[in-house]
Amino acid sequence: MNQAITVEIALPAPRPQRSGQTRPAKRPHPFVAAGGAGALKLVLALTLLLGLVACKQEQPVYNARFLAFGTLVDISLIRISRADAERVVAAIEQDFTAMDRAWHAWRPGPLGRVNRLLPSGDWFAAPPSVLPLVKLGQRYARQSDDLFDPAIGRLIALWGFHKDHPECRPPPPKEEIERLVRAHPRMSDIDVKGIMMRSRNPAVQLDFGAFAKGYGIDRAIDHLREMGVRNAIVNAGGDLRAIGSREGRPWRIAIRAPSGGSTLGFVEVSGDESVFTSGDYERNFIYRGQTYHHIIDPRTGYPARGFHSVTVIHTDGATADAAATALFVAGPKRWVEIARRMGVHEVLAVDYAGTLHMTPAMAKRVRLLEHNPDISLSEPL
Ligand code: AMP
Ligand code: MG
Repeated sequence: MNQAITVEIALPAPRPQRSGQTRPAKRPHPFVAAGGAGALKLVLALTLLLGLVACKQEQPVYNARFLAFGTLVDISLIRISRADAERVVAAIEQDFTAMDRAWHAWRPGPLGRVNRLLPSGDWFAAPPSVLPLVKLGQRYARQSDDLFDPAIGRLIALWGFHKDHPECRPPPPKEEIERLVRAHPRMSDIDVKGIMMRSRNPAVQLDFGAFAKGYGIDRAIDHLREMGVRNAIVNAGGDLRAIGSREGRPWRIAIRAPSGGSTLGFVEVSGDESVFTSGDYERNFIYRGQTYHHIIDPRTGYPARGFHSVTVIHTDGATADAAATALFVAGPKRWVEIARRMGVHEVLAVDYAGTLHMTPAMAKRVRLLEHNPDISLSEPL
């Protein structure tokens, strides 16, 4: 969905040895059978052949790309044979297709079914694919004082932001926005008992657009690890989680400036970290000179007006994704308090005056390209 971050992956120099995560090279049978030559010749030839086999089988970086969650998903795997990489990527692509279908708010599927049942107020069995997101969504909503509120699906649909490509059209009528805000749909209106759920407020409609991608990337990383992958990036439209390293060196992630295609700075990422950005340039339309974007302030029903963009670094993608959206709504006045409650320590936000609001932990690691930018440092979180 967003393109705030691009990933630069420097290609490491090819090395003939295998890394632990790849399949062993096949033994070069025919050559050994052709024995009888001098020992040195045999060793030399064997070394050459092994080198060739390994080169054929392993790639410094294997990149693959497919569509999911209305965006391009890029997978980068380090030191893996083509055959293994293709198998791994096919499995991950299947995961993304299933998750996309399960969490789509308006197309037929598990979440669509939940949204049809919620207004009745009756208890129903929650689809297993949806239940964890309901619980997680409730936690983030509580932590953010409902600034992050996946229960405002009706408002998002009213604005037309439930579509991948919003149309250019007048904003919705003020009265309709106010009616939906007054109905006060909140995640806390949902009761969950075991696998059963219900809503005590008929206005609740779920839209997981603000954290499904992060949660999905987390599941993809879990699956990659189960398949033996230790060094990888899963990048969905610029939001990503990176594990391991590129042969001992950190991944270098570019953070895009909110006002255009330029780069704000870089962060180096290694071990296991997610970098997510919410921005007002991602999905929007212009009507009579005014830009309307897709992150809605549940208190007003209108697009939030605090920041241009918010970038969050955190271990898990779901938290980074949810926090970027929540802090975007919180704006310059409340972001520090909400970041603390959500347990995020590394934040970079750009306000409308161009000031960069940062936590000290973020300031320590980000390399900004702009000379002498206006920076407002928060207290340590
Ligand atoms: P993101 O790009 O991660 O910030 O997510 C934006 C998407 O989250 C929107 O397209 C909506 O589907 C949804 N959304 C918008 N406003 C909110 C909000 N205040 N709380 C939760 N989800 C929201
Ligand atoms: Mg988000």
